Amino acid sequence: MKYYDKLIFELSRPGRKGYELPADKFNTDGLAAIPQNLLREEKAELPEVSELDVVRHYTNLSNKNFGVDTGFYPLGSCTMKYNPKINEELCVMPEFTSLHPLQNPDTAQGALELYYNLQHALASLAGLAEFTLNPYAGAHGELTGLMIMRSYHDARGDKKRKKVIVPNSAHGTNPASAMVAGLEVVEVKSKPNGSIDVEDLKPLLNDEIAGIMMTNPNTLGMFETEIIEIAKLVHDAGGLLYYDGANFNPLLGKVRPGDMGFDIMHINLHKTFSTPHGGGGPGSGPVGVAAHLTQFLPNPHVKKAENGKFYVDFGKESLGSISTFFGNFGVMMRAYAYILSLGKENIRNVGPMATLNANYIKESLKDDYLLPIPGVCKHEFVFDGLKDKSTGVTTLNVAKRLLDYGFHAPTIYFPLLFHESMMIEPTETESLETLDEFIEVMHKVAKEARETPEDVVNAPLTTPVRKLDETNAAKNPILNYKALKENA
Ligand SMILES: *Cc1c(COP(=O)(O)O)cnc(C)c1O
Repeated sequence: MKYYDKLIFELSRPGRKGYELPADKFNTDGLAAIPQNLLREEKAELPEVSELDVVRHYTNLSNKNFGVDTGFYPLGSCTMKYNPKINEELCVMPEFTSLHPLQNPDTAQGALELYYNLQHALASLAGLAEFTLNPYAGAHGELTGLMIMRSYHDARGDKKRKKVIVPNSAHGTNPASAMVAGLEVVEVKSKPNGSIDVEDLKPLLNDEIAGIMMTNPNTLGMFETEIIEIAKLVHDAGGLLYYDGANFNPLLGKVRPGDMGFDIMHINLHKTFSTPHGGGGPGSGPVGVAAHLTQFLPNPHVKKAENGKFYVDFGKESLGSISTFFGNFGVMMRAYAYILSLGKENIRNVGPMATLNANYIKESLKDDYLLPIPGVCKHEFVFDGLKDKSTGVTTLNVAKRLLDYGFHAPTIYFPLLFHESMMIEPTETESLETLDEFIEVMHKVAKEARETPEDVVNAPLTTPVRKLDETNAAKNPILNYKALKENA
C-alpha cells in the first residue's frame, strides 16, 4: 500500500457541491475586465465535494499534524517559540488589515508609527543605527545584508572584494545567500570547541574579502569569546562583519551585536519574536546596519519628520527595492506586540531562561547521550547521538521514536561537525514539568536502544504514517490532486 492510500481518499462525487454564493447578489461583470487570454477555457478540475467533506478532510488532516500547539518542539536553530494567541487577535484588527500599501501615508499614520517604532526597538536591542523591515525571511535578510555589504564596497570604489568568509558550522542559508549575492564563499574552520579558529582566519583576510558572516552564540550554542579580536582583524583588513541573528533570544537586552563589532545583521521575527512559522511562512527578516551603512538600506523606508509625522522615504543611495512595498506587516504586528508585552525589564529574562532550560536538559541527559562539547551552553546545544554506540541505534531512530511519545524531534544531522548531531533548544517558555517529561522520555529511548533496539529502529510505530521514504518523497512529490490521480 502506498503511503497516501491511507491518508487521502477519493471523496469526489459528480455533481456534489459545497456552498455557493448567490449569483444575483454579486456583480459578475468584473469577469469582463479579465483579458481574454487569461480566462480559463475549461472548468477547473477540482474535486466535487460537500462543505462537510471539505471541513472534515482538513480537520482530520490537521489532527494528524504535530505543532507547537500540540506538543513540545525542541528544534535547535530554527526554533519555533512561544506564539501568544493575543498576537493573532491583534494582527487581524481591521484597522490594520484593511490598509493598502499605496494609500496616502497621512491616512495610515498608526501603521507607520508601529513600523517606525519596531525599526527602532530592534535597533536598540541590536546596538545598531537603523533597521529595514522589508525582507520576507531570514535568508532574504541575509541577501539584503550582503547586498548592503557590496554596495558599501562599491560606493568606495573597492571593487575587488568579492569573497565572504563563512564558518563551517554556519546555517546552510549563509553560503547560499552569499552565492546569490554574487560573492564567493571562503570557509573558516572551527576549533574542537565549535568556535572560530582565529589562526585559520588570519591568513584568509586580504583585500578581496568583503566580510565575514557569523552568529554568536554560534550554531553549537557556544559564545565566541574572541569576537572582539575577530572584529578587529576583519575591520583592519577592510571587511565588514555580518551577524546572523535568526535566533536572537539568548542576547535580548543583555548583549548587542553592534557592541561586539558587527556592522550588519538580520533578525528572524518569526523565530525570536513570536510568529508561528513552518510550511513556508509567513516570515520577516529585518536587517539592521551601523551608522556608516544606513544610506544603502532598501526602499521604501519609514521615517519620522520634525513635526512628528511619519512618512515614506526613498533614499537615493539605497540598493533599491527587495520586496513588494514594506514586507510582511502581520508578522511585524506580532513582533511589536510581543516586545511591548515583555517590556524593557522582562525582555532581559528571555536569554537567561532559554540558557537555563538548555543547560538543564543537557546536564540531565549527558549520561545517555554523547556531549561532544562540554561546558555551559547558551540557548541550545548539540549531542552527538547516543553515548553507547554499540546499540547501532542512530540519531534518526531516536528522533522518530520521540514522535511515538508525543514530542517533536530535535534538529538532526545539523550542524555537520558531528556524525550524529542532535541539536536541542527547549526555548525560554517551557515549564519545568515539560522539560522533565522530555528528559524522562529521552532516557527511556536510550534504555530501549540497549534493551529492545528494534522498537527504536522501526519507529515511529504509533503515528498516522510510519517512517517515510524521504528520498522518494523529495524526488517524486505528489503535491496536488491531479498528480495523485495520475499516480494512483
Ligand atoms: C532559520 C535560520 C536562518 C534562515 O531563516 P529563514 O527565515 O528560514 O530563511 C538563517 N540562519 C539561522 C541561524 C537560522 O536558524
